[in-house]
Order: sequence, then C-alpha cells, then structure tokens
Amino acid sequence: MLPISRCPACGEAASPPRDHCARCGAESPGSDPSDGRGRVVASTWVPGAFGLEGFGPAGFGVAWVDLDDGPRVQVLVAGGPPGPDARGTVDLVVVEGVDLPVFAPEAS
Ligand SMILES: [Zn+2]
Repeated sequence: MLPISRCPACGEAASPPRDHCARCGAESPGSDPSDGRGRVVASTWVPGAFGLEGFGPAGFGVAWVDLDDGPRVQVLVAGGPPGPDARGTVDLVVVEGVDLPVFAPEAS
C-alpha cells in the first residue's frame, strides 16, 4: 500500500502525503492508502555504479507513474525502464534502509 493525501477543499491528491495542499493551501489533507495501481507516463535508465540494493549492478530504472487514485509519483524500477503507458503497481519497498516507491509492471 502507498499512502496518499487528499485535500478536503479541492480534492488534490499527493504522494507522499502532505500537511498542506500544494494547490489551494488548505491544512490537514486526509491520508488514505492507495492500491498503487497506475500508468507510466515517462521513464529513463540510470546506468552503472550506484548498485542499489536489490536492483543489480547494471543500474536501475526511474519512472513517473500516474496513479489511478490521482497523484503522479516518481518511482524506482528494477530490471529496466518500463515502456510508456505500461501499467503496474507502486508499493513501498525498503531500499538501502529507506522506504521508497518501487514500480512492478503487470505481466503481459
Ligand atoms: Zn486543496
């Protein structure tokens, strides 16, 4: 599950959740879990030497995903960058000791 905030005043959604709405400035947007399902809008490949735990020595993908629940999130991708419009699920995964959003493409 991926936490998101949704503004009670204007409906703007954000992930990670925020204390104030970035669109209208309202305080205390509620926080809801998202199922993380969404569509890739852009992706790239970061080659080489970083060697992030769990992502292999060759590098890792970075993608921007529009969640079906609203917000656009930047995510890590194991195994190479997904193609545009690929669908899948974003979930929080512990990488190098930090919870980071990671995209898993749907099987096609
Ligand atoms: Zn708002």
